[in-house]
Amino acid sequence: MDLQGKAALVTGGGSGIGRATALLLAQKGASVLVADIDETRGGDTVKMIASARGTAAFVPMDATREGEIEKAIRKVVELWGKLDVMFNNAGILTGVPAFPDTPVEQWSRVVQLNFWAVIRGTQAAIESMKASGGGVIVNTASMAGVNPWPMDPVYSATKGGVVFFTKALAWLATSANVRVNCVCPTLVQTPLLSDASDARIADLQRLTRLKADDVARAVLRLIEDDSLAGKALTVLPGQEPAFA
Ligand code: NAD
Repeated sequence: MDLQGKAALVTGGGSGIGRATALLLAQKGASVLVADIDETRGGDTVKMIASARGTAAFVPMDATREGEIEKAIRKVVELWGKLDVMFNNAGILTGVPAFPDTPVEQWSRVVQLNFWAVIRGTQAAIESMKASGGGVIVNTASMAGVNPWPMDPVYSATKGGVVFFTKALAWLATSANVRVNCVCPTLVQTPLLSDASDARIADLQRLTRLKADDVARAVLRLIEDDSLAGKALTVLPGQEPAFA
């Protein structure tokens, strides 16, 4: 897909991977709706895109709340006529206390955002894209969804779920002209790690990390290459992205 003149929705677009991807998509000529629970950060991403002469708008969104993803998709259609690209990216870590001591409400929020919202966002995007002839969906998984991550088992389970959900949707490319892929980065230098409440995870800061831009470029590849559907693209420091 050539992004020039296309319309995209980025969840978690106020920070890290979401922000870097929103900026890159806008630079490639797409109009971008930045959706985030944090209005200040989301608004800042829009300002950054505007100052680079791109087109963007912001919608406040808690992706775990019934109806909010649908509302954001309706806003893209209202602003720019249709939804071409959906980036289901917002995600969180479990935090402390680590599993199995985590209270149910706490790990349940991780499942709601990292897994439920990706399924719901994919479903709602497919419905919208079918009506306009097709599109591309990219989900943010993780290397923790390819290999088990004992530091945060619930997070790892949600990301593994995203990988399998995405792979199981490869057939949509032929039946509905909707390509669904996911990106699986290892550690990325973003507030997700630097603000982590779990000291063991915050400590991972000392390891070699990707930059959010590295992940944004992998997302761009999944969008631009029309041959890719049902793929999980891994991104690791110092290596060429590869399919898992
Ligand atoms: P980040 O914390 O920098 O950005 C996440 C954004 O999501 C924030 O702007 C936050 O406000 C927003 N958000 C949080 N809850 C939300 C909700 N309920 N509804 C809507 N928006 C919400 O984190 P990041 O590192 O850019 O993470 C983005 C994605 O990448 C996540 O799915 C994460 O699991 C995944 N990931 C991150 C890493 C890493 O090491 N940072 C590695 C692999 C995968």
